[in-house]
Amino acid sequence: MEMNIYTARFQLGSVKSTPLVILALVAALVVSIGLLVNERANNYRASLAVDIPGTAVDDQRQQYRWRLVTTWPKNFPGLGMAPEYFARLVNEMTGGQLQIQVYGGGELVPALGVFDAVSSGSVEMGHGASYYWKGKIPAAPFFTAVPFGMNAQEVNAWIMYGGGLELWRELYEPFNVVPFLGGNTGVQFAGWFNKEIKSIKDIKGLKMRIPGIAGEVFSLAGGAAVTIPGGELYTSMQTGVIDATEWVAPYNDMAFGLPEVGEFYYYPGWHEPGSALELIINKETWDSLPAPLQKIIETAARATNQNTLDEFTARNASALVNMKERFDVVPRPLPVEVIKEFHTLATGYYEKLSASDPVFARVYSSYSAFQKEVEAWHVVSEEAYYDARK
Ligand code: CA
Repeated sequence: MEMNIYTARFQLGSVKSTPLVILALVAALVVSIGLLVNERANNYRASLAVDIPGTAVDDQRQQYRWRLVTTWPKNFPGLGMAPEYFARLVNEMTGGQLQIQVYGGGELVPALGVFDAVSSGSVEMGHGASYYWKGKIPAAPFFTAVPFGMNAQEVNAWIMYGGGLELWRELYEPFNVVPFLGGNTGVQFAGWFNKEIKSIKDIKGLKMRIPGIAGEVFSLAGGAAVTIPGGELYTSMQTGVIDATEWVAPYNDMAFGLPEVGEFYYYPGWHEPGSALELIINKETWDSLPAPLQKIIETAARATNQNTLDEFTARNASALVNMKERFDVVPRPLPVEVIKEFHTLATGYYEKLSASDPVFARVYSSYSAFQKEVEAWHVVSEEAYYDARK
């Protein structure tokens, strides 16, 4: 009788087992285990290729090795983990064909030198926030957050479905930079103050770290706004170089130890109602990437954008509890009068800049038209539900 795996199986099925059948089964088992071990070894080699940049792989596809510089300290909770999450996704989704090494602020380039480094092509990618580049592009803050502007849900909607992305690409084009959404913090806190704020008069002469258009508004209110990287906030507050600082919200503020150096913790984040983070790529680098890899980048950026917001929402909620327990911090609301004054000054600023800068005017017009519409929708949806839930 001719014996092979199939006949052995069939004979087993008819319960006609012979020593020859058992022998064939053992042989089949040995072959299967051999195949399995070989496959596992291949997987192991592939995982090595993903985890260790520069590892030689048995892969005929063109390999890409990118450097991604960030404005955050390496592995900083939330903000700094967003680019790490993105890089890991891309490495895994491309099976190691495109490997991205993430560098913290100051490791390859200064924290606030990210845009220039990507623009010049000295690195392939960056992660940060568009409002840091306000000095080059006055309308850039609309793609992070602006005072009394849209929240995370709304700004995502504007950028992905309301024409925002096209404007953003257009704005960065002369700089050879292609932007993508790369995370969102949600509504932030107004910040840490070493002076109690009772009225708008208390802002006068106050030196605060507050970037973007919010900094302009703060200065218009009589304060002195400065932009310094997050990594320097603790020391700057401790030594009295600044009197106040905003950073993000409980989760990230705790990570920098700000409850130890700030006396009063104010909300709401009038200045950053839902700050979008950005992933930026050098244009030539992007254009030279094959379409399937471009698709993976886009998809991984979308996933990173959502994942970051989810993480911030969960961790801010628990950090608010921890902050009370460990540092006895009781957040307090900014006086309504102060908020109203900031609002008036912000509107004046948008109008003034729109009158003198046509590019700013176009972006502001798109942004504010979208905000008006989405606000009306959210009055009868999100806001109405928040009220109902109470
Ligand atoms: Ca902030």
